[in-house]
Amino acid sequence: MFKNEIPKAPIHNSPPRFIEVAGSHHQMGSQIGEAARHQLQHSVENARKLLDASFSSIQLTWEQAKTHAKKYLPFAEETYPHYVDEMRGIAEGANLNFDDVLVVNCMEEIAGDTLHLTHCTSMAVNNERSSNGHVLAAHNEDWYPDDEDDVLIISAKPNEEPPFLSMTYGALLCNVGFNAYGITQLIDSVYPSDIRFGLPRLLVSRAVLASQRITDAFARILVANRAAGYNHLIVHESGEIYSVEVSSKRFEMLYARDGSMIHTNHYLDPQMKLIERNPEHLLSSRARYFRALRLLGQKEKHSIESLQAIQQDHVNVPKSICNHDIIGEPIDQHKTICALVIDLTEREMHVAWGNPCQNQYHTYKLNA
Ligand SMILES: [Zn+2]
Repeated sequence: MFKNEIPKAPIHNSPPRFIEVAGSHHQMGSQIGEAARHQLQHSVENARKLLDASFSSIQLTWEQAKTHAKKYLPFAEETYPHYVDEMRGIAEGANLNFDDVLVVNCMEEIAGDTLHLTHCTSMAVNNERSSNGHVLAAHNEDWYPDDEDDVLIISAKPNEEPPFLSMTYGALLCNVGFNAYGITQLIDSVYPSDIRFGLPRLLVSRAVLASQRITDAFARILVANRAAGYNHLIVHESGEIYSVEVSSKRFEMLYARDGSMIHTNHYLDPQMKLIERNPEHLLSSRARYFRALRLLGQKEKHSIESLQAIQQDHVNVPKSICNHDIIGEPIDQHKTICALVIDLTEREMHVAWGNPCQNQYHTYKLNA
C-alpha cells in the first residue's frame, strides 16, 4: 500500500510566550516590542528572506517593498492613527525600523496574489452544539515554518478599548482573538480580485478586537477605503456566529443557522465567488473545508477536545487541516504554526504551539 508520510514537525516543550501589556496604544506596542525583541526582529528578518527567495516571482527588493508599503500608510493614518501608533511602539520597543514593521504588516498587500500567504482553517460551534453549553471557536494558523518560533500570546488592557487576548507572531498587529465583550474574531485569507491602495487588512482586523457588540464588529470589518479583505469569522458569547466575507468593495455575510461555521481560504458566498482571483489555486482550501464540514457534522455536540481532534486531522496530508506542507520552495512552504481553541464562555484560549498533532495545548485566560 502507498501512503503519504506525515513530515516531522518541531516539538515545543514549553508554552508559547505570554505577554501582558496595558496603557496607550504606543505603550502597549513598545511593551510587546521590548518583551519579545528577539522574536520581532526575527520575523522581520524572515520576511526579508522570503522576499529575497521569491524575487523571481514577486520582483520586489526589500527597499522597494518599503516604498510600496508607505503608499498604504496615509489610509492607515487617516482611519486608525492609534493603531499606526501601536506599530510605532512595536518598532521602538523592538529596536526595529518603523518602515520594516510596516512592510511586515502590509505583506499581503505588497505581495498581492503571488504569495498565498495563509492557509488557515477556522471553525465555531455555539452553545446548542457544545456538550457543556459553551460557545467554542477554533483556528489553525498556517504560515511560513520559519515564523513558528515567533508565536506570541498577548493579553492587552488598552486605556480606551476593551481588554483582549490574542495570538500573534513577530511584529504583526494582534488580530485573531477575543475581547472582554465576548466577541471573537478568527481570520482567514481570501483572494479578491478588486484589490487597491487602501487600508491594509491587518489594521482592519486589529480594529475588530475593540468591538463592543456584533454590529460594531461588522462596521469595523466594513470600514471605508479597504485595500482588500479577509474572511472574518465572528463569534459572540450569545452563540451568534457569522462569517463576513470581504473584498475591497464588496462583502457578504454567512450565518450559522445550525449553530456551527467553518471557513478556510476560498469564498463561500456565490456573489463573492464572482470576484475570486485564481480559484483553481485554492484546492487545499476546498479539501480542508469539506473535511472539516464532515468531521463537525459527525457529532451533534462538540467539546474542546473534539474540536482539537479536528485540528489534528491529517486527511490529504501534507495539505491537511493539521498542515505539514513544508515541501518545495520557501515561497510554497506552509505549516500549522499554532492551533487554538477559544472557550468564549470561560474567556479562555487553549493553544498548541506548532502542529497540534505533536504538541500539547496550554491554557491562557483573559485578564480583564
Ligand atoms: Zn499534524
